[in-house]
Formats: sequence, structure tokens, C-alpha cells
Amino acid sequence: MSELFIGGRWTAALDERVREIRCPADGTLVGAVAEAGPKDVTAAIAAARDAFDRGPWPTTPVAERGRLLLRVADLLERDKAVFARAESLDTGKRLVESEYDLDDIANCFRYFGELTASGAGAGRIVDTGRSDTDSRVVHEPVGVCALITPWNYPLLQTAWKVAPALGAGNTFVLKPSELTPHTAVLLMRALVEAGLPDGVANLVLGSGPEVGAPLAEDPRVDLVSFTGGLATGRRIMAAAAPTVKRIALELGGKNPNVVFADADFDTAVDHALTAVFLHSGQVCSAGARLLVQDEVHDAFVDAVVEGARRIRLGGPFDEEARTGPLISAAHRAKVEAYVAAGIAEGAVLRCGGARPDDPTLAEGFYYLPTVLDECTAGMSVVRDESFGPVLTVERFGTEEEAVALANDTVYGLAGAVWTGDVGRAHRVASRLRAGTVWINDFHPYVPQAEWGGMKQSGFGRELGPTGLAEYQETKHVWHNLAPRPQGWFE
Ligand code: NDP
Repeated sequence: MSELFIGGRWTAALDERVREIRCPADGTLVGAVAEAGPKDVTAAIAAARDAFDRGPWPTTPVAERGRLLLRVADLLERDKAVFARAESLDTGKRLVESEYDLDDIANCFRYFGELTASGAGAGRIVDTGRSDTDSRVVHEPVGVCALITPWNYPLLQTAWKVAPALGAGNTFVLKPSELTPHTAVLLMRALVEAGLPDGVANLVLGSGPEVGAPLAEDPRVDLVSFTGGLATGRRIMAAAAPTVKRIALELGGKNPNVVFADADFDTAVDHALTAVFLHSGQVCSAGARLLVQDEVHDAFVDAVVEGARRIRLGGPFDEEARTGPLISAAHRAKVEAYVAAGIAEGAVLRCGGARPDDPTLAEGFYYLPTVLDECTAGMSVVRDESFGPVLTVERFGTEEEAVALANDTVYGLAGAVWTGDVGRAHRVASRLRAGTVWINDFHPYVPQAEWGGMKQSGFGRELGPTGLAEYQETKHVWHNLAPRPQGWFE
């Protein structure tokens, strides 16, 4: 059984509760984990607080902190097969996708290791114009961080938080999704092996209301970094308000994929498929809203439908499969409800819209890649994040209409524009209200570039130098080198 990790010790939950984890691809038992409650959270926060207040991690030289992150990257590479298998069993995603994720995760630790060691963001000397003062702006760790992560990219989302939090000298309590805890457990072991002092990294496994909510409320926590759904993000913001915690929220999106008639047709079709159906649509940046210019609409949608019908579903170790199941029965039911609502509101079902009839998939939470054509902006399936393999298609005539439709959402995480016209590409990219815009591409990201949302996709940035700065406080230190009385009140 996997246990909680608190103050450098593996421990059962105080009330000895245990949760079974089952693979969403076929329902097989993956393992059992300790199920924490609020008292375990209190203990974990106390350990992180103590490790921060007593040190030595917050004042450990940046070169040493950076080296530790690089050692973690090495361990992730050494144990890639173990991590990838655990990730696939928890999430149901194909092993090859977990392996890609592991490469990205190791790169993330490597990037923040090098950035930390380089002294980036260490601070600056301020020119006060006076010779009798020394004025410096320095960056210090924020303190105890609560890191709350989702189930779709469990270790990747965790790495985006853990690596910069440690690089900046913080201590943390990590709460992964209750559905996908195993790679977080493996990461704690790697951090220990890399030499992280006791109490700096703490892991509590359990549900959002019992474990996540107390983390957001506790006055001993200085910062909450959360990735997940909009509704939960709002709750976390409210829970953090009374103690005025710093928060960073990554709340998903309803991302437009805008295709102009002059785009390279075949390439745009191919990318439109991965944009939305990768990991069965359980991707915060999924290109779930396809906007196609009138001239090519019919041919383009026909080609996308043909491609969607060809996508083979299967479990993590099925080498023929191209995508896997949804995470849970409840999540599939939610996706089904969105598709039904879309059809009731007038969308035209072009393919999918059902569970597969293959009996070998009956025990998993599979749902066929689905294309809904003739959608309009008001439909709930267009408006809300279904987080499933559901593509909605809208038409546009002009560039102006494309931009208006693309931005007609409360979200602003990502978007793409496909066109052969360079001027148009940059005009549209500059007008899309999203944290990431791809031109003639979809999905790529690098740890060197910031990631995050505008509007209700959240605030704060992960990755890049800003991703490190999220975990730093800024302090101005003024040193009077020749103090003497001012005589102000004489
Ligand atoms: P949630 O927002 O509920 O879960 C994300 C994390 O928050 C999990 O660790 C969850 O815990 C935790 N959590 C839940 N409630 C609270 C709370 N009150 N206080 C603190 N933490 C809490 O996402 P879901 O898994 O329910 O998915 C719902 C929707 O969120 C999806 O359909 C999708 O739209 C969106 N989503 C977006 C993601 C993204 O990458 N932006 C990722 C995942 C989901 P636990 O799971 O243990 O209950």
C-alpha cells in the first residue's frame, strides 16, 4: 500500500482509511493508497511550516538547489519505465503517451534546475543616486506552498509546480487527484533519493473536500497553486481569501482552432484531430472548438469526420490503440450529457456520440471520438469544457467573424490559427485573448515558455522564468551606510 509522506516519513492515514485505485481502461485494481483526512493535512502543513521556518532549504545556495533538481531529472530518466507504467495504470492513457510525458517531466526538472543554479531572479542592485546607501531588491521563497493537481496529466502538472517551488526554496504539501496518486508517491521517493531534506516535500492523498479544501484555508499555507476545473478554482479562491494567500489558478479552457480556407488542408485536418482527440480530449488546451471558413467548411469537416472514425480506442498496453478511456464513469456521464444537450439544441452529430460496441472495451470508460457540426456559440457543448473527445464545429466568413467567435468564451487558455497568409496569422494571433497561441500548429509547448490563461482560465503562469517567479517574494533591502540623525522634528 502507498502511504502519505509527512515530515520525511511514510505514514498511514491517522484514521487508517484506505482507497483502492482502479484502472479506467478495464477496472482492474492498480493498488491501494492511504486516504488522508483533515488531521493528516494539519500534520503535513506543520511539517512543511517547520521545514521552512527552521531551514535549511530556503537558504540553501541556489547552485545546490539547482543540482538537486538536476538529480531528480536523472532519476526520472533512470526510472522512466516505472513512472510511465504507473501513470498509464492510474489514468488509462497509452503507455507511449506516458513515456512522452516522462520526457517532458524530466526536461521540466532540468530546465528549472539550470534556471535556479544560474541565479536567475536572484535580485538586483538599485541605483539610488546616493553614495551613502546600499539598496537591493532580492527574491525569496514564498513559504509553504499547497500544490493541488488534477488527474489528466498527473505527474506533468505536478512537475510544473514542484520543480519551481523547490528551485525557489519553498517547502510544500502536494495533493494529487484522488484518482491518480501513484506517480506522486514515486516522485516523493525520487526527491528523497536526490537528497531533499526532511519536511520540505510532503504528500497527502485524499479527496478535494477533505484534503484540498483545508490546504486552501489553513493560515500556515502561504501560496496555493491549483490546476483543475473552474468551479473548484472559484472555491479555492474563496477559501484562500480570508488569509489573503497568494494563489495561482490554471482552470482549463474551451480553446478555438481557427482554420482559414488558405491553410494547408491536409496538415490542418491532421492537427485538428490531435488538437481535440489527444488523450480523449482530457487536455486543458484541447482544440475542442473548430472554427472553419465557409469555403472549405464542408470538405474540411468531412475529412475530420473520416479521421475521427478511424481512431482506434484501447487500453494502455494496446499498441494498436491511438487513444484511451475517460477517467471515470462520472466523467463519461458528464460528456454524454453535453453531447445529448448539443444535439437537442440543434447540433448535427457527424460521428461518435456513443460508447464503442467492442465488447473488449466494455469494462473501461470509453467514448467514441465525436464530431458535432453546425454548432452555435450559445450551446452548452460549445460554451462549457466537456473535457472529452467532443469536437464542435462552427463556421465563419471573415477574419473579423473568426476573431469574434474565437474570443466568445469565458476561457482564454490557448488557441490556434491556420492560414497561409503570414499577415493574417499574426493579426489573428495578436487578437486572440489566450495565454498561448499557435500558428499553423497545435499543442506544442516547451518548459522555457510561460503557460497559463487569460480570463476565467485563471491567472499566474507556469514554466519559463515567470513560472519560477510565481514561487518568489520580492523584498527591498535598504542599507544606510552612514546613519545620522535626520532632525525632522527639530
Ligand atoms: P477538480 O477541479 O475537481 O480537481 C482538480 C484537483 O482539485 C483535484 O486534486 C481535486 O481533488 C481537487 N479538489 C476538488 N475539490 C477541491 C476543493 N474544494 N478544494 C481544494 N481542492 C479540491 O477537477 P475534476 O477532476 O473534478 O474535473 C472537473 C473538471 O475540471 C473537468 O471536467 C475539466 O473541465 C476540468 N479539469 C481541468 C484540468 C486542467 O488541466 N485545467 C484538469 C482536470 C480537470 P480530487 O480529485 O482528489 O477530488
